[in-house]
Amino acid sequence: MPRPNYNGFKRTLHPLLCRFLSAKKNPPPSFHPPRGTHDTFHATNRKRRHLERLLQTTIEKHGVSEIKTPTFDHRSLFDRALGATTDVVSKEMYSLDHTDPPLVLRPEGTASVARALLHQGTATQPHLWPCKVWYSGSFYRRERPQKGRYRQFDQFGVELVGCGTWMDDVECIMMGHDVLQRLGLAPYVELRLNSLGDQESRTRYKETLTEWLRPYMDELSDTSQTRIRNGDVLRVLDSKRPEDRQVMARDDRPLMSHSWNAASKDHFEKVVGMLREVGVMVDGGEEVEGEGEGGKGLLASNPMTMVHDEALVRGLDYYCHTAFEFVVKESGGKQNKKNKKKKKSVLGRQQGTVLAGGRYDQLYSVLSGGKHDVPAVGWALGMDRIALMLEELEEDTAESLWPLAPVKIAVLPVGDKGAMVCGGGGGGSGGVPAAVLSTALRIGHGLRNCGEGDDWDVLTNNDVGRLKQQMKFANREACEVVVLVGEDELDQGGCVSVKNMATSEQVQVEVGQVVEVVRKMVSRSGGRARW
Ligand code: ATP
Ligand code: MG
Repeated sequence: MPRPNYNGFKRTLHPLLCRFLSAKKNPPPSFHPPRGTHDTFHATNRKRRHLERLLQTTIEKHGVSEIKTPTFDHRSLFDRALGATTDVVSKEMYSLDHTDPPLVLRPEGTASVARALLHQGTATQPHLWPCKVWYSGSFYRRERPQKGRYRQFDQFGVELVGCGTWMDDVECIMMGHDVLQRLGLAPYVELRLNSLGDQESRTRYKETLTEWLRPYMDELSDTSQTRIRNGDVLRVLDSKRPEDRQVMARDDRPLMSHSWNAASKDHFEKVVGMLREVGVMVDGGEEVEGEGEGGKGLLASNPMTMVHDEALVRGLDYYCHTAFEFVVKESGGKQNKKNKKKKKSVLGRQQGTVLAGGRYDQLYSVLSGGKHDVPAVGWALGMDRIALMLEELEEDTAESLWPLAPVKIAVLPVGDKGAMVCGGGGGGSGGVPAAVLSTALRIGHGLRNCGEGDDWDVLTNNDVGRLKQQMKFANREACEVVVLVGEDELDQGGCVSVKNMATSEQVQVEVGQVVEVVRKMVSRSGGRARW
């Protein structure tokens, strides 16, 4: 019997099968960004850059300098600083594989700043205090993604280290107020603050609260029950679970302020009193019309509402005395101009905190095994939530909060003769006379480097095509002015065409006059939306 001939199979089917099997083993990557993360593009990035710059300049005016720490750090740092039972440490950190010692993507900034200042020595040398630093960057937590809650998010933070007085708390809160005011967000947020008191007051309150919660243990979430058993009863106040909130909302819940000792009470009252005195804050419920009394013309805006929130505890272990959050007001505080009805904020109740912080006098001691006692206070602002708020505000008021983007000018070589466009669908500059290409380059260079160059973006499209294709490009890029460099014009008298895209006005000018003509055209146009 003749043997079957498999050669045809090998030649055709075999490679296909191999490709199929290898694709199954090694699938191509998904183009989706990982859950809870985002790709961002030019317009968004430009706004974020503006936001960041505004925060930096505002904070540096307070004499605060920048600090940068790695985006990953020792797991043990966060275990110690934040507390092993916190949500962040127990379930939200991203560990890096096979690292010894174990490393994680940083979930927050304060612990890394403390590590850096202990390592560098500023924190350990009181004669170098106060040390005031700001940081900005991405942080990572494995949380359930929602609007304003992501797995990679950006924070801008401030830490006042070696700062142990109640006045430092005031200064720190005023810095938060300052940035929100400069962003135009002050009318839409309120300050909620509380005091966790000193160690003695906190221990007393923990005992009182644990005792009070005993009859309600079964009604609380499993997590809260475990926390109480582990001595973390304060976290129950911070719980977002509805069953916990229901218990904690009972009228007879003991108040933290009733457990404050004299020193804790004094510290809190001085902070609140000074904020009131300066005029940046008024108590919740009071009229906030007009300038604060203490302002006397120095404060540029209305005071913000301040509310003593007895249930406010920060989610991390290291806080004492003053704790505060700047929270979006319930209504979002704004009216939709068109339909005049109050609109709920984009940030839901659970994502309403845009800036949060407090005093943390124990952190440095905990990290240094009791060797260094460094009082400190600070805050972190959620950039993503601020960006969302600004977007919403812009929609509601139809007023742009962002500066105009630079004017776009296109300098485009044009293949006047069909023959200049190479085939193959891609076009190319191969057939265009060098004089056209070099003139376009020189004009582009001249425009970028003239006096107004910083306010102009000068684009080119080297895929040299016919006039129609180049104009399509200029329209797609929303260019305001287009300089067309064509062979014939150049040959006939060293000229190029300059076109105002808004009015369609087009003039022929000598190469040496292009900058001046563009300048005039730009100053006359000014009509195009540039975001
Ligand atoms: P929340 O109660 O909203 O979870 P938090 O107490 O965990 O906040 P902090 O660790 O104090 O937040 O961080 C400071 C600020 O950073 C928050 O007020 C918020 O604006 C922002 N932030 C925190 N976690 C996220 C996140 N997962 N996505 C986006 N922003 C965040
Ligand atoms: Mg959180």
